[in-house]
Amino acid sequence: MSTYQNRRNLSIAQELSPLHANCESCFGLCCTALPYAASSDFAKDKAAGIPCSNLQSDYRCCVHTELREIGYRGCTVYDCFGAGQQVSQNTFEGKDWRQFPEAKDAMFSVFPIMWQLHELLWYLTQALHLPAASTIQHELESAYEKTKQMIAQPRDALLQVDIGSHRASVNTWLMRVSELVREEANKQYKHVKGRRTAFGRGADLIGAKLKDANLQGANLRGAYLIATNLRGADLSMADLIGADCRDADVRGANLSECLFLTQFQLNAAKGDCHTKIPAYLVRPSHWIS
Ligand code: SF4
Repeated sequence: MSTYQNRRNLSIAQELSPLHANCESCFGLCCTALPYAASSDFAKDKAAGIPCSNLQSDYRCCVHTELREIGYRGCTVYDCFGAGQQVSQNTFEGKDWRQFPEAKDAMFSVFPIMWQLHELLWYLTQALHLPAASTIQHELESAYEKTKQMIAQPRDALLQVDIGSHRASVNTWLMRVSELVREEANKQYKHVKGRRTAFGRGADLIGAKLKDANLQGANLRGAYLIATNLRGADLSMADLIGADCRDADVRGANLSECLFLTQFQLNAAKGDCHTKIPAYLVRPSHWIS
């Protein structure tokens, strides 16, 4: 998937770089603002707005190197799309909620809104680099700029954002991008041998056996891929937006040209050194080497 336009002279990896979590520049917002519940992902319950007991005064995690071993697998999967550092350093201008407790409630309320705006920016940035979506470039640019403007707003305005409405509006264009890319995949891969498997939006594929499957251009929007065997499968130009990839076995799979793949999904799946991933994502350290 090469870029059809060198937007602002940046590669897709460079453009997406600020949308990766930078915990060093964040005041532990995901470890404080968000709740978690005792489960296979978290060792115990924590309410929203309460700092995790493992969060130190310098906002570092005291169990960072052993999260999976002690029952905090969810922390190794989570990715804030860079919303943490945006809220900490820009929206709240570097004002630490411990030193300025009066800002705490607003900061914790803004964080989930910013997370969603950054998530949309992630998808729109990807879409703007897709040659197949060039026919709707103007609309995508418009949605991108509107999202950027929302992100840059002062805290009070951010709290008033109708995020549901904005998500719905952006999603209309992301769905069109998906159609265009998958139409292109149909043309590009029509001569490829092997049965191509078609699925619909929100497909229930929990535990399905799709080893070595040809999933080029598949519609896996919101699909349940929990513990799905995708070993060696080819997901080139498959739309994975919102797909639940927890424990999906992607060892040796080709994810390098997936549409709307996120670091969160990659972290949740089980891959290895043979899994092909896009250059703009990081191979999870907990994957099998
Ligand atoms: S265990 Fe560590 S990474 Fe997870 S929420 Fe607590 S402080 Fe944050």
